[in-house]
Amino acid sequence: MAQVANASQRLHMTCLIDTHAHLDASEFDADRTSVHQRARAAGVVNCVIPAVEAANFDTVRALAHAQRDAYALGIHPLYTPQATAADLAQLDDALRTHRADPHLVAVGEIGLDGFVPKLNTPDALAKQQLFYTAQLKLAQQHQLPVILHVRRSADLLLKSLRDTPVVGSITHAFNGSLQQAQAFIALGFKLGFGGALTYDRALQLRRLATELPLSAIVLETDAPDIPPHWLYTTAEQRAAGQPQGRNEPAELARIAQVLADLRGISIEALAQATCANAREALPRLQ
Ligand SMILES: [Zn+2]
Repeated sequence: MAQVANASQRLHMTCLIDTHAHLDASEFDADRTSVHQRARAAGVVNCVIPAVEAANFDTVRALAHAQRDAYALGIHPLYTPQATAADLAQLDDALRTHRADPHLVAVGEIGLDGFVPKLNTPDALAKQQLFYTAQLKLAQQHQLPVILHVRRSADLLLKSLRDTPVVGSITHAFNGSLQQAQAFIALGFKLGFGGALTYDRALQLRRLATELPLSAIVLETDAPDIPPHWLYTTAEQRAAGQPQGRNEPAELARIAQVLADLRGISIEALAQATCANAREALPRLQ
């Protein structure tokens, strides 16, 4: 009972939205319910669970419903090598079938990855681009925002967005230049920040997260990935058999505190603003 009271007290204090959490990942198979409970106890009122391929559309939808979270449907750039035209047709179908589902908040995770070498051969890059633009068009047709994966690909992503504009959306795990950030903001995007800014050495990212207008920022964990520094396991520790730390939505409270401190504002002010921003970018988020 004491624990429940404590959790609800904190819920009144802060409203945090994790705009990017892969809660369907196998890393959570053993304790998904506890992960969910810890998130709510930490003030995380909603998580957005993005799909990565047609094969997990049903899984993320069922999970979002079961946990009263939100979901997005899309084909992630890392999954484009094995994706086919039938997957795009399936996405179109699913967006139509579930258009009245209030838990469906965006098309995602889509985008371009300019980092993974095997995805950046001319053929693989062309395929990434094809799936990205096709999914932008689907988002446009179904009048949904998008959740973008950006990794050394901001300029290419922006170029397609100018040809195929979508309604205000989110660029997740943003780590580009100030100029690129401003270009996304000019197109009505919010930028997602998470565990990466908890590292003292992430100077450029920290400066960006501090100097950008608060109205442009949303919070995310990218769980189970991008562990904050307090969960990070070094290469030496991993060589000695310690696994990499697993990130989870409950960590968002401490991540938010780091950003609030960097910006010199209270956690309540940051939480309130970033929640409003998330709901502006993803209007179906309740
Ligand atoms: Zn992701």
